[in-house]
Amino acid sequence: MKKNEEYIVTCIDETRLGSGIVKIDDQVVFVNDMIKDEVGKIKILKVKKNYAYGKLIERMTTSPYRIEPLCPYKTCGGCQYQFVDYSYQLQMKTKQMSELFHRQVDESIEVLDTLGSQEPYYYRNKAQFPVQVKDNKILMGFYRQHSNDIVPCKECKIQSHMINEIYQWLQKHLSFAQAKQLRHVFIRNSKTEAQVVFIGKSEQKFDGLVKDLVEAFPNITSVVFNYNTRNDNVILGDEYKVLYGRDYIYESCMSHSIQLHFKSFFQVNPKQMETLYQCAIDMANLNGNQKCIDLYSGTGTIALAISDYVKEVTGVEIVQEAVDNANVNKEINHITNCQFVCQDASVFAHEHRNENIDVLFVDPPRKGMTKQGIEDIVTLKPQKIIYVSCSPDSLCRDLNIFKEQGYRCKKIQPVDMFCQTTGLENVALLEYE
Ligand code: SAH
Repeated sequence: MKKNEEYIVTCIDETRLGSGIVKIDDQVVFVNDMIKDEVGKIKILKVKKNYAYGKLIERMTTSPYRIEPLCPYKTCGGCQYQFVDYSYQLQMKTKQMSELFHRQVDESIEVLDTLGSQEPYYYRNKAQFPVQVKDNKILMGFYRQHSNDIVPCKECKIQSHMINEIYQWLQKHLSFAQAKQLRHVFIRNSKTEAQVVFIGKSEQKFDGLVKDLVEAFPNITSVVFNYNTRNDNVILGDEYKVLYGRDYIYESCMSHSIQLHFKSFFQVNPKQMETLYQCAIDMANLNGNQKCIDLYSGTGTIALAISDYVKEVTGVEIVQEAVDNANVNKEINHITNCQFVCQDASVFAHEHRNENIDVLFVDPPRKGMTKQGIEDIVTLKPQKIIYVSCSPDSLCRDLNIFKEQGYRCKKIQPVDMFCQTTGLENVALLEYE
């Protein structure tokens, strides 16, 4: 096989990154925009030692699962699956998870069907729009895939309507002087409120804009300027000034009220978040007498959600603002059997090693846990571990470390939190054997 050669091929499968897989002389070729069983003419773009990349030049048959994407922008790279019918997206995700965990962890794991969303569009509650001034134009939108170029758009089909409206308003009203001060605009909304965080150098020219913004959107209860003059790609800086209202908003989750600082993590799909937590609760089979830990607890949402079904729960979280939120959330929801600690999860595990607990909930960021953290946390001898993960790869790696420590994964429930994209959340049940 050589570069620029053309072949007629049939797609035999899809990768977890959303491209089609075809085989030419037993060699794997990855081709974007192909669904299983579709036939097409492709051109070879690049040949590597064990695989190659190709480009579709003509689709000759069309999968019954192919649909016209709602979004007209093909270049932002945020969604990989808009051209795939939602029910087939779920089937693909289930199959991919089943293959991954059976091959790489344990053949006996029960991988359940992916729980899909009733609302696969307009679901995200958080957006971070980069802002640039270029060729006498203000650009605010999403990065083009693999680049720092901004694709401005009218709306995003997976962002909430509230975020889209605020985004459109800002595109119209942001002046050059203001845009020059900015690197990003962060917008987050809850069921009842919205928050806008301007991120950049100086807030000095923003008074008029903020006044007009909150007049246009009365449900904005928080406008903040976050100072970030760093040169790396970290979006939020440490220092900030509240320009209007407060530095947090309120959201609700599983009938609890949640105070949410702009620096605190929150799940981006609030409907599916409740599905996810309900799965975690069901898998843990709680009986009201257990002592639990919620490691990587954020604003305390999992600890609060399980508080009714356990004796006590300790949440551990590294971001102080999130721990402050969790403590407030405990108070405003009149919950007395939760406590929250601001500490690195691994350090906490090490300091508390050998203290017994019954059920451990862990929900780490993408990179997963550390080996040492796992080795320490298993000394607390939980009977059950419920591992909530937004990265199948780090979950896979960590399940194998847990396995070495005697914890076997029994069941995995994939939950589609990131509809139209390749992203996926999993809840895994581990038991000591
Ligand atoms: N369970 C929460 C948060 C999950 S996100 C929810 O569902 O909303 C992961 C959380 O881990 C984030 O809040 C992040 O700030 C926190 N975190 C990241 N690194 C950490 C560490 N080393 N120790 C403790 N918490 C950490």
